[in-house]
Amino acid sequence: MTGLVPPQPSEGFERSPLSPLQPFDIDHPTHIALIEPDTAFWGLVHKDRLVETMAGGELLDTYRAKAQVFAAEMDMLRFHLKPSAVYFNPTERCNLNCSYCYIPEQMRRGGDQMDKATVLDALERLHGYFRSHMPEDRLPQVIFHGAEPLLARQAIFAGIEAYGDRFRFGVQTNATLLDEDAVSFLTSHGVGIGLSLDGPTPEVSDRTRRRWNGDGVFDHVVRAIDRLDGYPGYNVICTMTTQNLPYLTDMVEFFHARRVPACMLNVTRCTLPGARMVNGDDDDVATAFIAALERTHQLYLETGRKLVVANFANILIAILAPTARRLMCDISPCGGGRSFFALATNGDLFPCSEFIGVPEFNGGNLFTQPIEEVLDSAPFRLVTGRKVEDIEGCDTCVIRHFCGSPCPAEAHEMNGGMKQKGAFCRFYEEQVRYALRLIADGRHEDFLWDGWDAGTEVACAIG
Ligand code: SF4
Ligand code: SF4
Repeated sequence: MTGLVPPQPSEGFERSPLSPLQPFDIDHPTHIALIEPDTAFWGLVHKDRLVETMAGGELLDTYRAKAQVFAAEMDMLRFHLKPSAVYFNPTERCNLNCSYCYIPEQMRRGGDQMDKATVLDALERLHGYFRSHMPEDRLPQVIFHGAEPLLARQAIFAGIEAYGDRFRFGVQTNATLLDEDAVSFLTSHGVGIGLSLDGPTPEVSDRTRRRWNGDGVFDHVVRAIDRLDGYPGYNVICTMTTQNLPYLTDMVEFFHARRVPACMLNVTRCTLPGARMVNGDDDDVATAFIAALERTHQLYLETGRKLVVANFANILIAILAPTARRLMCDISPCGGGRSFFALATNGDLFPCSEFIGVPEFNGGNLFTQPIEEVLDSAPFRLVTGRKVEDIEGCDTCVIRHFCGSPCPAEAHEMNGGMKQKGAFCRFYEEQVRYALRLIADGRHEDFLWDGWDAGTEVACAIG
């Protein structure tokens, strides 16, 4: 495993002071990447041609001709978006007590819950805000999140019915309450559904995802997956921890066998101490993650059916078409407070759900203040102003715009401040190396959704 230090221009490959392109070794037998970090422009060149390519030629000419356009696109993506989504927490309560949850235990045990009138009032206010700046033909997104949002099922289903033509809705649930009626309601209203499962067997999955009395919920989640069979709008999140890393390849086999259309293999966000207890080592996470991705590829070749690992697909897209990325953790500033925000049960607004357990990041309240004012509050500006350029090590990192140095909540709570890195530098580095190797080998499309590039334009293609 390479990368014991942040990915600076690769040692062993001479860097030309005159060339904006910096070499980045991708551990490929024949090719190396050349990257212009500020614009995220890159090329893959044969190692034998590295020196001449850095000195001049088509790649450098193309970069110079388009540098301003690329810089303007990156500036737009990083600094000029307006929120188009909200993570809506209708309840603080949860019927599970997962080891790595970022919501404090006292909230999950007996916190507040919105009633139907409050959910409808919140949706009306959110609708007014989004309509003030989004085009008519683009629907803002509301993702019911938690804690466990289906504990407030009556209220959120009323909201989905009343506002179904004004928002795109999603629900992120632990799946224990996804009975036949709930599945039928959500699928018939076209609601995106995210579930969570951490292992291919009860023995593994129940290590981290349990009820308060210690009982596991594996069987419930698998029943929900079976009920959702054939519905394209769902995915399953597997959180990678020390408890399930050896089973990650089995996990993707399990998902593929059950025809899950997409999954996420997420790292634990280490904002609260509980998550740090099960947080895997970067190199172990990277090794298990890449092995699992390779297994999804074999399964695709064997069956013709893809299991897209959405968080990795996002890294690939960040490289191939930076402005087309869908998830906003791996860009700096991250999406928290700028492309979306989070609504807590009492109406308080946070840049991201990850901050809900950290009161100093409360920027204001939906029911008492205009949203624009909250977005410009000091707590929001702390997050929206966190840039890789200000973080030591990231400021000179070649892949800083493919990684983004997530997560500000971890940096603040675990590492001592916004100018620190988050938790998984080497893991991100290895993901980017692997993604560039796939591109070098022409295998990358096999890891992406069919039609992922619809609506994008080719700005640059050489060789
Ligand atoms: S990096 Fe952290 S704060 Fe930012 S969007 Fe991701 S989880 Fe939220
Ligand atoms: S956290 Fe990301 S941007 Fe920062 S040095 Fe590591 S790989 Fe680079």
